[in-house]
Amino acid sequence: MSKGKQRERVTPESNRQLMDLLEMLPDALIFLDETATIQYANARAATMVGASQHELPGNTLWQGASPLVSIALYQAVVTATHTRQPLQVEYRSPVTQTWLHVQLSPTSQGIALCFHDDTEPTRLQDPFRQSEQRHQDLLERISDGVVILTPEGLILEINQRPLADAQVRREEVVGRLFTDFPSWSSAPFAQQQLRAAIVQASLGETVRFEARIRPQPGRYRDLALTITSHLDANQQVEYLTYVGRDITAHKQADEESRVLVESMPNLVWMTRADGFVEYVNQRWYHYTGLTREQTQGDGWSASLHPEDQQRTVAAWHAAVQTGIPYEITSRIRNGTTGEYRWFLVRGIPLKDSQILRWLGTSTDIDEQKRIEEALRQSQERVHVFMDSNIIGIITADGEEIVEANEAFLHMTGYSREDVQNRRVNWVHMTPPEYLPVTQQAHQELAFHQSMRPYEKEYVCKDGSRLPVVVGGVAFQDNPLHSIVFVLDNTARKELERRKDDFLSMASHELRTPLTSLKLQTQLLGKHLAKQGISGVAPALSRMEVQVKQLERLIGELLDVSKLQAGRLEYVLEPVNLDALLRDVAETMQQVSATHTIVVRGTAPGSLVGDKDRLEQVFTNLLSNAIKYAPDAPLIEMEVSASAETVTISVRDQGMGIPKEQREKIFERFYRAFDPSQRAVPGLGMGLYIVAEIVKQHGGTITVDSTVGKGSTFTVTLPWKRGA
Ligand code: ADP
Repeated sequence: MSKGKQRERVTPESNRQLMDLLEMLPDALIFLDETATIQYANARAATMVGASQHELPGNTLWQGASPLVSIALYQAVVTATHTRQPLQVEYRSPVTQTWLHVQLSPTSQGIALCFHDDTEPTRLQDPFRQSEQRHQDLLERISDGVVILTPEGLILEINQRPLADAQVRREEVVGRLFTDFPSWSSAPFAQQQLRAAIVQASLGETVRFEARIRPQPGRYRDLALTITSHLDANQQVEYLTYVGRDITAHKQADEESRVLVESMPNLVWMTRADGFVEYVNQRWYHYTGLTREQTQGDGWSASLHPEDQQRTVAAWHAAVQTGIPYEITSRIRNGTTGEYRWFLVRGIPLKDSQILRWLGTSTDIDEQKRIEEALRQSQERVHVFMDSNIIGIITADGEEIVEANEAFLHMTGYSREDVQNRRVNWVHMTPPEYLPVTQQAHQELAFHQSMRPYEKEYVCKDGSRLPVVVGGVAFQDNPLHSIVFVLDNTARKELERRKDDFLSMASHELRTPLTSLKLQTQLLGKHLAKQGISGVAPALSRMEVQVKQLERLIGELLDVSKLQAGRLEYVLEPVNLDALLRDVAETMQQVSATHTIVVRGTAPGSLVGDKDRLEQVFTNLLSNAIKYAPDAPLIEMEVSASAETVTISVRDQGMGIPKEQREKIFERFYRAFDPSQRAVPGLGMGLYIVAEIVKQHGGTITVDSTVGKGSTFTVTLPWKRGA
């Protein structure tokens, strides 16, 4: 029977009856043409789909009857259209959740589908149905978005994830173009990407890409997408599977680390496993002035200092080859100023089972380098200084010497081990008589962080004495820590000793002929007097004055050398100071016609002392007053007493003594260098002897003076000497 004949038999009347019959059927019936467009759907079909019957024709099955659509149905329709063979399919509707048994029969114009809603409980135990159920449950539970698409991009199945995201219902989107899904349609760029990907996938390729979609206004989601194609038995693309993984958090973390990397003061870089530079942060471009292209690969090395280039690149390649973390310091050029700055460059390999890439930073350590260099130089200088062996240098921690240079060790005979083992102690090295001056110096050190050089002696390791000059500074943060320099004073002391020996010898040698000369003069005087020759008397008396002057000088010289040797002797007896002072004043007045000596006050009582030496004190003070006040005739001597002491001051109105010299005039051989004072004869011994005598009597001597106005020397003596 031909098709034409069959058509002829169906009259309008029979056609209407048939239609009524179809409308009454308990199963849903849908006729499709070859493009899967609905030609007819009966009342039951419309109910199942949830649409009015007249709406359905003209729509594709996928769009018009979306509650019925599934991948299984799609496959069946495609197969039946293709093979023109009847077939059956059973599946669970993703929308209605009911089991549908569908019979597909080819018709002259397409296919007839008969849907039987199968709710029979026993059939629910069917293994096929159970596995189908599991498959669907699984799909719903996957956190990725999963969509099955026709090669044209129509949605056949879609799981809950994208639906919930866009807040749309399944039936609203099934059968429609996936590119029109709200999440994509509101993100035009992503939509374009998706469209292209679907086209590519429908050609049989697997497509992967990342996209940012907008499921709802004001919200975005970053997705990593894969679209794969499923081929049928004829190697034709049957449908597409889309999987979208949410990577928003990941992207955000990426973005955060990117911001972090960009905000870092360091230059940050990333390379491939083979060392090819792929990424550097903005700071790199900004600092080096290189472009992305110039930086890539090994290009970055152009920014290195020519002297560092080879070494740095070689070290980097070695690190890449061995996989050992990379660390080097190199100079990198500032592209703007042309200046090279030191950087600490560090790279670490990021590994999985093998090295994936290298991540590195370059940190500006120029300042640090400069400080290090300055420190190194200063240390070098200190070492040069310490090792110079010109002076001894030690550092001490409290009493212990913790460091000493060769010169010091050489001088004192101690070894480096002695110092290292803390066996050298400067207090132990100090002889008892030098302890007071040493303590004083260290007090000064503690107060002022420095001590002026002073003379002392050290007891060397072998017990011998070493004359030294010592000075030093203390560390501000720790005053117990000091650096002390030590000068060997032997040569000077030796010279001094020889000078003292010479003085002592010379004064002795001079005194003998002088004594004889004095005697002879006296004898000569007597002789001439006896003979009645009086004409030479003035000459003789002038001779005697000169001889006395000589005698005094030689006496002073002798005193000085005795003082030096600690051999000045004192003959102690009760001394009437009042009488003594008046005697001295009278004698001095007799020899000096130019000046007037006035004595005021009294000192009743007597003290125990050496009368001659005390006379020497005041004779000296008065003779100085006369000498250094040639044009001021008044010399005042004032005496006052308390219960414990007697004070004698000698005041002149002469040239005075500059302040800075006042302390020094009591030193041996010290003479003021002022030319007017230089003109006055003297050897600078008088005040030295005076001060020593006063000291021996338990007293003190001070000077008060105004240049051009005069000086006052004040001696204070105790009535009773201490023990
Ligand atoms: P000299 O033999 O030089 O006088 P002295 O030891 O007696 O030695 O004095 C030391 C120095 O002190 C003198 O050279 C002088 O410069 C200064 N001097 C001492 N007495 C006086 C004084 N009355 N007026 C000014 N200068 C004085």
